[in-house]
Amino acid sequence: MEINCGIVKDLIPLYHDEVCSDETKAAVEEHIAHCSECRAALESLSRTEYMEETCYSEARSRELAESYRKLRRRNSRRMALTVALAVIGAALIAFGFIKYYIASHRVGHNNTGFTEPSAGAVTALVGGK
Ligand SMILES: [Zn+2]
Repeated sequence: MEINCGIVKDLIPLYHDEVCSDETKAAVEEHIAHCSECRAALESLSRTEYMEETCYSEARSRELAESYRKLRRRNSRRMALTVALAVIGAALIAFGFIKYYIASHRVGHNNTGFTEPSAGAVTALVGGK
C-alpha cells in the first residue's frame, strides 16, 4: 500500500510504540525503506526517547544515590549512638563490678576468719615448756 509522507509522519509514533496493525507496520516500513525524510523522523523519535530515558535514569540514579547517602548518614549516626551507649553501659557495668569487688574485698579483710594466735598456742607450737 502506497502512503504519503504526511500519513507516515502521523503513523510514526504508533509504529515506534508498536501499537499499530501489521498492515500499518508493513506500509510504514515500505515507505521508510525509500523515504529518507520519514526514516529520519523515526530515528529522531527513537533518539529523543533514548535521551529522555537516559536523562530520566540519570536523574533517578542521582536521586537514589542521594537517598542512599542520607540513609548511610542516618545509619552511621545511629551506629555512633549505639557505640556510645554500649561504651557507657560497659563503663557502668565495670564501675559496678569494681565497687562490688572493693566492697567484698574490704569485707574479706575485716572478716577473714583468722584470729591472732594466743601466746600459749605459739609457745606450744614452737616447743617451749
Ligand atoms: Zn516519507
